Amino acid sequence: MAIDPTQAYDDDNIFAKILRGEIPNKTVYEDEWVLAFHDINPQAPDHILVIPKGRYVSWDDFSATASEAEIAGFVRAVGHVAREAGMVEPGYRLLANIGKHGHQEVAHLHVHIFAGKPLGPMLM
Ligand code: IMP
Repeated sequence: MAIDPTQAYDDDNIFAKILRGEIPNKTVYEDEWVLAFHDINPQAPDHILVIPKGRYVSWDDFSATASEAEIAGFVRAVGHVAREAGMVEPGYRLLANIGKHGHQEVAHLHVHIFAGKPLGPMLM
């Protein structure tokens, strides 16, 4: 079920529970701004999710209201995770699903990192 990106932040979403340590995750990286962990249902040999620690539903509220430090911390962390995982060469894909047409299912901003095989062209 896709979410409405303009909805108020719901503290019961699954990534909020992961951030609070109520649901286990396979952590790849953590710092003051982000948590990165393996997707539970990988769509590529390597499939990592990076989420900000702040309460943001989607790219929309994050880009509009997050502090410069949060945005910089998030962007830098995504690059750091990919570099540390050895993905820069031969490459990887970033994806953020936003809202209904973007088929966003979890109402906490996340960026997918896909890698580990030639991913082919985008399908849409
Ligand atoms: P979305 O469609 O961009 O919202 O993708 C949500 C992603 O979260 C999907 O790829 C799910 O497999 C992933 N996911 C859902 N629950 C968990 C979990 O508990 N741990 C790790 N990944 C999860």
